Amino acid sequence: MTKPTIAEASCADDYDPNSMPVDKARAFIHRFLEPLTATLRVPIRTALGRVLAEDVVSPVDVPSHRNSAMDGWAVRAADLAPGGETTLEEVGASFAGRPFAGKVGPGQCVRIMTGGVVPGGADTVVMQERAKAEGRRVTFAPGQKAGQNVREAGEDLKRGSVALARGRLVRPAELGLLASLGVGEVAVYRPLRVAFFSTGDELKSVGTPLGEGEIYDSNRYTIHGMLERLGCEVLDMGVVRDDPALLERAFREAAANADVVITSGGVSVGEADFVKDLMGKLGEVVFWKIAMKPGRPLAYGRIGGAHFFGLPGNPVSVMVTFYQFVREALLRLMGQDPVPPFPTFPATCTAKLRKAPGRTEFQRGILSRVAGGGWTVAPTGEQGSGILKSMSEANCFIVLGEAVGTVEPGTVVEVQFLEGLV
Ligand code: AMP
Ligand code: MG
Repeated sequence: MTKPTIAEASCADDYDPNSMPVDKARAFIHRFLEPLTATLRVPIRTALGRVLAEDVVSPVDVPSHRNSAMDGWAVRAADLAPGGETTLEEVGASFAGRPFAGKVGPGQCVRIMTGGVVPGGADTVVMQERAKAEGRRVTFAPGQKAGQNVREAGEDLKRGSVALARGRLVRPAELGLLASLGVGEVAVYRPLRVAFFSTGDELKSVGTPLGEGEIYDSNRYTIHGMLERLGCEVLDMGVVRDDPALLERAFREAAANADVVITSGGVSVGEADFVKDLMGKLGEVVFWKIAMKPGRPLAYGRIGGAHFFGLPGNPVSVMVTFYQFVREALLRLMGQDPVPPFPTFPATCTAKLRKAPGRTEFQRGILSRVAGGGWTVAPTGEQGSGILKSMSEANCFIVLGEAVGTVEPGTVVEVQFLEGLV
């Protein structure tokens, strides 16, 4: 089946551009994302935060040798008396990195440390807590199981099997895993280039004094920060005035130099038509009013070969729409597959939250751990979409689904933790 164009898809029967549910908008965008294809080979440290462009096949067995999971003695299971103690003669030692050169014969055992190679002849390790040594005579407690405490070669990963699949984001754990296989270089997708600019006649750059009615351009900084955190290559185009000729020039330049273009402002009522006309000329773009708060107006489409996200102007709306729509889309474009959903979990809300059903709200909240188990969440206070302090104080979004009405104190709500561990 060929992909519909954005224009065709947006003409579907159940499509309401004036009240688009959050999940539907996400799914819509997802249909038009074609991940990067260009790749490069890099040393593994450089791969941190990038996405693997090839399966990494293990060149070795992990572990590479049959080894001990415990400190103790390597023995032959057949030597152990089933119902009573067994005394064997210690004939040597196998430490991690210093194997025992000989073989364990009948009646013999070898002192072994965690990670030590299990010597030939032995098949079982008895942990030291179950043994008593007097000189070279070691007595083992009854009840040992054949094969216990032995890690087989290739038990974690067989040579030739896929250790990490294409599409995997490289985090510190992946770096360690690659190193443990002796892999020093991997193929990753090239970084995603994202151009962005703010629109608005009222915006001033930091470092210049404010005239009457002017404000500092804060979206430039939040967007920069969010893109950098995702590992994108950012192309910061500053502020563009609300002037059709200047905007057209900026859009053309951005689309020619980047994989993705992000703008803020200029998509709310009154301004929308203005940008809309321009977009109609430059590319294929749909405007939505998303059934959400904050962040109602959002534009998505293509300009030339670039993806376009037109975010609202209000600083909190910018961050919420970025986290709820753009982040996942960028990760997908960067080659990550699958992109795990931003996890939500339940917490007990300690305050009353006013809300009307019919749209999804992302209130800013502070999660606290309750002694004895569970979490509570409280809103950060004023929730206006221009109040960036609410984002700064928050450690979570309180996600109130479409069907949810006003929340009474003590109600369990869904929250999304803002800080990733990795
Ligand atoms: P707009 O969507 O352009 O009508 O903007 C909505 C609100 O967000 C207005 O109050 C703007 O002044 C404000 N705003 C727009 N862009 C920015 C920006 N880059 N930084 C701070 N506030 C902004
Ligand atoms: Mg504006």
